Amino acid sequence: MDFQKILEQIQEDTQKYFGIGEVANYIPELAKVNPNQFAMTVATVDGDIYSVGASQQRFSIQSISKVIVFAMALEQIGERLFQRVGKEPSGSSFNSLIQLEQEQGIPRNPFINAGALVSTDEIIKNNKDAYEAILNFVREVSLSADIDYDFKVSSSELETADRNRALAFFMKSFGNIQGDVMMLVDVYCHHCSLSMTTEELSKLFLFLANKGVNPLNGQRVVSEYQAKRVNAMMLTCGLYDNVGSFAYEVGMPAKSGVGGGITGVIPGHLSVSVWSPELNASGNSLVGTKALELFSELTDLTIF
Ligand code: GLU
Repeated sequence: MDFQKILEQIQEDTQKYFGIGEVANYIPELAKVNPNQFAMTVATVDGDIYSVGASQQRFSIQSISKVIVFAMALEQIGERLFQRVGKEPSGSSFNSLIQLEQEQGIPRNPFINAGALVSTDEIIKNNKDAYEAILNFVREVSLSADIDYDFKVSSSELETADRNRALAFFMKSFGNIQGDVMMLVDVYCHHCSLSMTTEELSKLFLFLANKGVNPLNGQRVVSEYQAKRVNAMMLTCGLYDNVGSFAYEVGMPAKSGVGGGITGVIPGHLSVSVWSPELNASGNSLVGTKALELFSELTDLTIF
């Protein structure tokens, strides 16, 4: 398959979707991003990389980091994690408090904010330095030693993170957060601020396309069983309120972030990342979603 040609066609065909969505503005630093940007990268399990657009431009991965902390927590404590977080799509917004009250402080899944806070709480508990552990994981798995937090974005989010603090305090009142809430939200806002390119994200996610082993260096990241679980969670919970239509139109496990990135995997074949900052009403990259729909159409690659 000529992935380069397919990506070029996608880049051309998605031009008409610019100017419809809106850049995330509830984190002041993200509101400053130039909306008119696009990048897309395919990384195959054979180690080939194909890109178009600004694939060397780093951007804020935001909620895509929830997959990282979930995979790390699952690898560190195994199925015990599910005593603290569920496995079902939430059907409500990613930072909702109502559902948490009804369900006694147990978040529906690891990809809503409350669920990611639980994974992050586990990482703080199980690692000497959570900031360093997360950064090392990302750098090692994507083979990019200079990936870093974007401290402007993390400070900006910390100034507006009261709802996330509220979620964490609320869960703590049910006994489902063990560490210090202020520290927890600080670590959370840092991993959301991780700044990466589509190429780095595609490399990072390759282990999920390859039964838990990073095909770029042969190192096992999670067990085969855990890779399957992470992918299942992305398929059912990875795209906010668009998860059903995304599965229907695109047909691959993926995770989006309000920075405009989306990364997905076709197990056994590849990972694919797209970035374009304008979001649709559900908070997913509008052009990015269209690009992945076209990718699915042009390649016929799907898990179904
Ligand atoms: N850091 C963002 C928040 O907690 C992540 C949102 C997202 O990308 O879904 O609001």
